[in-house]
Amino acid sequence: MPGTDRLDTAVYVRTGFRWMEDPDRPGTGTVTLAKQSRPLDIRWSRALPAGVVPVRLAVTRDRAGRYFLSALVDERMAPLPTAFVRGSRAPKATGVDVGLASLVTLDDGTRFDHPRLLWRYAEKLARLQRELHKKVRGSRNRGKAKQKIARVHGLLADKRKDMLDKLTTRLVRENQVLVVEDLSVMTLLRAARGRGRRRKARLNQAIADASWGELLRQLRYKCGWYGRTLVIVDRFFPSTRRCSACHAMGPRMDVSVREWTCPACGALLDRDVNAAANLRDEGMRLYWLMAASLPPGRKAPAVIKASDFEEGPPAA
Ligand SMILES: [Zn+2]
Repeated sequence: MPGTDRLDTAVYVRTGFRWMEDPDRPGTGTVTLAKQSRPLDIRWSRALPAGVVPVRLAVTRDRAGRYFLSALVDERMAPLPTAFVRGSRAPKATGVDVGLASLVTLDDGTRFDHPRLLWRYAEKLARLQRELHKKVRGSRNRGKAKQKIARVHGLLADKRKDMLDKLTTRLVRENQVLVVEDLSVMTLLRAARGRGRRRKARLNQAIADASWGELLRQLRYKCGWYGRTLVIVDRFFPSTRRCSACHAMGPRMDVSVREWTCPACGALLDRDVNAAANLRDEGMRLYWLMAASLPPGRKAPAVIKASDFEEGPPAA
């Protein structure tokens, strides 16, 4: 996205700035750069860990003329205690199905909607882009319009990050193993299907894609921080069509089908919950395969992909 293209960066090491933590809002404070008399005017997007002093600061200007301050802190993220299934020594696992109807559906039926605010930003972005097309090429107004677009792109990316932060923290805290589908395939599928659709539908999908990408990015690094495992299931795994109760294959279904009955066992299946349950089971199969290949006492890695298994995992 143009809004995230960082252009100029200045880096300050420990001797190049003064840091004073605000006792009322730990993790935030004042930063005064060397050779400057007044502290920077900072709007904190998130607090640093309380009580730490940044070891390095970077001040960056993006294409939209916004300044960013990023701080590097020296703090090891402590792994959380292992999350077990209640009353058992089995690691607690969840299948995480992502989609357009809900952003995320878990195998226990919990759903998280797409944040509405992102759509509002996206609509604004679309309007600005339409306006841009009407501006004369090379004119000052066109330049201004472009800057405005870059700014909204930046805002959108920031909001998306913040909103998904809570969700991914919760998922990672509550579960030891999180299973997702390889998301690259969803984009491919939709690109083929999306032709001829209206602009609004395409826009919604672009927003959803970006949310999924960010969701996956956050799950990856948080699993690393907190000693959890993210299993990425192969894109050819039939998470939607397989019955999670008896593993029989159901019919091919259009995206509009939200519920179906398994022809083999008669189970009534919610499309997304069923997909999440299949992901969980397949993910745990891979998890145990990996665990069996590790020396005793070694913890499972932060990310397991189906492609980690050389000759491919045995068929389910
Ligand atoms: Zn069945």
